[in-house]
Amino acid sequence: MYFTLDDGIYKAMHYVPLEEENLYLLSIVPVKVANAQFDLLLKKAVFINILIIILFLLLIILIIFINRKNREQLIKIAYVDPVTKGYSKARFDMEAKAIIESTSAGTYSLVSININKFKLINDSFGSDAGDKTLKYIHDVIANYLEREELLCRVSNDQFNILIKTISQKEILKYIENITNDINSFNKDKECKYFIALSIGVYKIDDPNIPLVSIQDRANVARKNIKGNTVTHPLYTCVFYSDLERLRMLKEKEMENRMEEALDNNEFVVYLQPKVDLKNNNIVGAEALVRWQDPDRGLIPPNDFIPFFEKNGFIIKLDHYVFEKSCAMIRKWIDNGETPIPISVNFSRAHLNNKDFLEKYKTIRDKYDVPAKLLEIELTETLIFDNLQMLLNVIDQIHEEGFQCSLDDFGSGYSSLNMLKEIKVDTLKLDRAFFSSPNADNVSENYVIESVVELAKKLNMNSVSEGVETILQMEYLKKINCDMIQGYVFSKPIPQEIFEKMTFGKTLDEVNTNDAVK
Ligand code: C2E
Ligand code: MG
Ligand code: MG
Repeated sequence: MYFTLDDGIYKAMHYVPLEEENLYLLSIVPVKVANAQFDLLLKKAVFINILIIILFLLLIILIIFINRKNREQLIKIAYVDPVTKGYSKARFDMEAKAIIESTSAGTYSLVSININKFKLINDSFGSDAGDKTLKYIHDVIANYLEREELLCRVSNDQFNILIKTISQKEILKYIENITNDINSFNKDKECKYFIALSIGVYKIDDPNIPLVSIQDRANVARKNIKGNTVTHPLYTCVFYSDLERLRMLKEKEMENRMEEALDNNEFVVYLQPKVDLKNNNIVGAEALVRWQDPDRGLIPPNDFIPFFEKNGFIIKLDHYVFEKSCAMIRKWIDNGETPIPISVNFSRAHLNNKDFLEKYKTIRDKYDVPAKLLEIELTETLIFDNLQMLLNVIDQIHEEGFQCSLDDFGSGYSSLNMLKEIKVDTLKLDRAFFSSPNADNVSENYVIESVVELAKKLNMNSVSEGVETILQMEYLKKINCDMIQGYVFSKPIPQEIFEKMTFGKTLDEVNTNDAVK
């Protein structure tokens, strides 16, 4: 209760009941005095609150500061290449992607640069000098960048530049200038050390393909030295677009020549021995074709078989290889040798003709070779889409008395489940199983052992392909693998050498000797 008495002082009166029964505490205080106390309390409270707010703000500022520092540190780690102090690959990729996506097809080109024999610089002058060289080369190239062009060191001695597309002629001039600039440090040097570059260029004509593929294309071009059209001593430069053209030219050339080559016996059948691990005897051979081109020399099958599979010529070629194999066995029998079984590869293109085995039968009949000496190698890829078809093929092959094997087992997406269905005579373990030269990879060995054991249980012979070392061979012998086919024993070799290796003499010698007798 507030009141003022005669003394004129404005007072407050307050009473509260005490715990004691019927007793009250009555307080009377001038309002001025009470307010002074209250003001003091209020001021203290305000002060403390302000202090808390200030401390809180300081804390927030500190946190922001630390955060920013950390971010800067992270950005530095992620976005700055420690050697060149330029862009890291991560930053290059991020910005390049944005630039490429925001421009129309063909606006930009990706240039992939590799320093030739860079390892030599590191080995001869130390890694510090190596790092300095990389920074130097980076800085020289960086001088050539225009607005919205990017450069980074991708890895060790490899750089990527994203440049605005200019004509091939201009790009070559651009690269020549860079190469000359890089090597300008030699000018007054008595002992010169030239830095040579390999370069691949991809004009990004499809901005929607992923950046990795764009980089892949520039890399593919860089590595394909055959496409090089430059005569500068210090750099090679290949344009991706030229590769496509080169490939098409090469294919056209093959297409023009293939029939004639077949007639001229330019396709040569090499034999690679299969060796029995119990006694190290040659107990079989795989027929592997090569193209002995009068101009281009000996061409490996991987250079022409994929194309012949596309244009269908593989069917003729497989028949040819089969015929040559039959002729070899015929010759061995006629010469009184114990004939060695030969296996031939079989392309999926044959499956388009349901009477595909007729031709094989006719050829076999022509040479009158026991069918069990001939083996047809099927690959897993034949069966991807149609297991039933494969089962039929195997049945037909067996009906004709030929042997049948599953080639490259384990190289693709082999299905163990499928093995229970297919009744091949031999399982050929792909060389992918033998990655360790010392045969000491425990997990790998578990897998190999299991597959060999599985083949045994399924009544199949096992042949390990691509065995390159004695240790691998000994290991395979220990785990009872039946045969090996690999460089450790022999590469694929011409017929005469195979005969000498297998029968201890060339069969022509035998004939001559017989004739002399
Ligand atoms: P493939 O049928 O799996 O033949 C085995 C390949 O492995 C051969 O390559 C052989 O030289 C290679 N090889 C054998 N041992 C080793 C080794 O120890 N280390 C390494 N690194 N490689 C080894 P090649 O002769 O170049 O043949 C490649 C492929 O071309 C063959 O693989 C086969 O798929 C195909 N091919 C070859 N000739 C013919 C053919 O007449 N017709 C068909 N359709 N395909 C064929
Ligand atoms: Mg094969
Ligand atoms: Mg194989």
